[in-house]
Amino acid sequence: MSSSTLAVAAALTGAAAGTLTAWPAYRLSVEYGEPPRSACGECEAGISSWVRVTRRCGSCGRPVGVRPVWTALAGGLGAGLLAWALHPSFLLLAALLLSVAGVLLGAIDVRVLRLPDPIVLACFAGTVLLLTAEAAWTGHWSAYARAWLGGAAAFGAYLVFAFLPGAPMGFGDVKLAGVLGLVLGYLGWPTLILGLFLAFLVNGPAAMIALIRRGRGALSAFGPAMLVGALLAIVLTAPR
Ligand SMILES: [Zn+2]
Repeated sequence: MSSSTLAVAAALTGAAAGTLTAWPAYRLSVEYGEPPRSACGECEAGISSWVRVTRRCGSCGRPVGVRPVWTALAGGLGAGLLAWALHPSFLLLAALLLSVAGVLLGAIDVRVLRLPDPIVLACFAGTVLLLTAEAAWTGHWSAYARAWLGGAAAFGAYLVFAFLPGAPMGFGDVKLAGVLGLVLGYLGWPTLILGLFLAFLVNGPAAMIALIRRGRGALSAFGPAMLVGALLAIVLTAPR
């Protein structure tokens, strides 16, 4: 399969997966410690399904939550670009896993400024598993060691940032940085450093829009900027 065919197939799969993340993102957009949303926010009718392709409530018919068109677009674009940039490998699978989970995390973060621990932990476990498989398959154990160093470095750097006064990120972002740092680190130090830098560059305009729309002191999610920054870093420094 040529790389462009693979990229198109990945984009379509990513768009389908992205479509399916919109509804769980709505249900999981709750405050810390609260169970997933189990009632429609408009009519209070019970909602228990996790799989829906429309955001219209089955009872009142009103649209609730996240627009599937946006998550489909993000999922398709992310997966397509990654499959274009990286060779078919466990490494690509790790990046694709994070891009789909990233759409879910990003949508939740935009709504409630949170990156739920269970999702980030699942991403961590999946990423470690796939990168270990990649290293075992290719024998690139030095890249594997660098992945762990990169994850630790990204985690540490964001931990320091998070303590700075007026920092745009919270501890959810610190944990996500550790996970993204694994994949970026596996690809190399330039990819990791670029990924961390681009997150701030991407966040600038986003924070500006939040400021204009909601006024001074408005908080905006930093997670989406980190995810987009990591994606751009991979595409810009990809070996191909
Ligand atoms: Zn309803």
